[in-house]
Amino acid sequence: MSTSESHLRENPYELAREQLRRVGERFQIDAGTIAVLGACKKAIEVAVPVRMDDGTIRVFQGYRVQHNVTRGPAKGGIRYHPDVVVDEVRALSMWMTWKCALMGIPFGGAKGGIACDPKSMSKGELERLTRRFTTEIINDIGPEQDIPAPDVGTDGQTMAWLYDTYSMNKGHSVLGVVTGKPLSIGGSLGRVEATSRGALFSLRNLLERRGDTLVGKRVVVQGFGNVGSLLARFLQQEGAIVVGLSDSRGGVAARDGIDVEAAFAHKAATGSIVGLAGSSPVTNEALLELPCDILAPCALEQVITEENAARIQAPVICEGANGPITPAADTLLESRGTLVIPDVLANAGGVVVSYFEWVQGLQEYFWTEDEVNRRLDEITSRAFAAAWELKEREDVSLRLAAYGLAVQRVADATAIRGLYP
Ligand code: GLU
Repeated sequence: MSTSESHLRENPYELAREQLRRVGERFQIDAGTIAVLGACKKAIEVAVPVRMDDGTIRVFQGYRVQHNVTRGPAKGGIRYHPDVVVDEVRALSMWMTWKCALMGIPFGGAKGGIACDPKSMSKGELERLTRRFTTEIINDIGPEQDIPAPDVGTDGQTMAWLYDTYSMNKGHSVLGVVTGKPLSIGGSLGRVEATSRGALFSLRNLLERRGDTLVGKRVVVQGFGNVGSLLARFLQQEGAIVVGLSDSRGGVAARDGIDVEAAFAHKAATGSIVGLAGSSPVTNEALLELPCDILAPCALEQVITEENAARIQAPVICEGANGPITPAADTLLESRGTLVIPDVLANAGGVVVSYFEWVQGLQEYFWTEDEVNRRLDEITSRAFAAAWELKEREDVSLRLAAYGLAVQRVADATAIRGLYP
């Protein structure tokens, strides 16, 4: 495990509850309901012993949190990262509830995580870690109960191990237990690109309302994982100029634009985008402060805080990551007129196509990529329109509008189902 300082400077669960409190206040949602929604239904903590390649045994802490299942089974990714703590998983699970409600897909929210450094582990170690973790939570997940997916530090291979472990234990293949599976075992076309494509649609939707397009827009993308790298590619394909990129090792900038395909090739060859020809190095902190038209933080939480918010020059921020802006920074940015497309709106494409994958798996009938992308556009654009309309009508930020819509939907479902017993 890394000994470096955690990226979580503030308690993420407290921040998520602070956002909920703001929503409850602004939209006058019943205090009892807000208390229910501020709590996580179930939090599981498990020890995950793993035999390492050198013969030693290490024990990792793993978590699965189900925040809310009022609108359907719990849904959300599994994160492998050294900084994972239960309150981070709690916050991420709450955001999944809002995201699914805002998109109008029939899921609640969940998240999982293991405190580990996947970059320093072998494939065999990761497989044993994943299979043991899956076994520890096997009675709490399932197609009708809780459906995991990839997140930071996990991918299709991780989901394949989870799927196999669950299926072997049940005695038959259970397609609907997990999404983000590789295509060869019942994944969905378009799932790998879905989060980035959804973010692209949200930017297009915003610019359309201003009679504008992405052509010539100067963009900075922080993070070159699944979400950031593919978003950068899509933006360049749309005619935007990518002037800054970063990964966990550092950033690169070029006033005249970075060739995103060259960045992919450089990363494939060296493991990082740092040192990309034709670019100058920039720290991760300075990258966020570069002059640009659009900034897309696509890595981890709490990168824009009270401390640096005043130095952010981008007039538009698209939250590809979950929780990259703290509530205090949000207030500052809003007062300066920065338009933030919030995480639950900007990065929901991933879970929307996860929903499609789950539906296709249950029906054992698979769609074309065009069909997936068209329906993704439909759902994300409908959610954007609803949030935008509320923002205009109530004169609130797009975040407050999007969260407000989502929370109201979960509150309505809670009221009509009634409190048991
Ligand atoms: N981890 C992704 C997210 O934060 C995807 C979750 C899913 O597909 O269930 O939205």
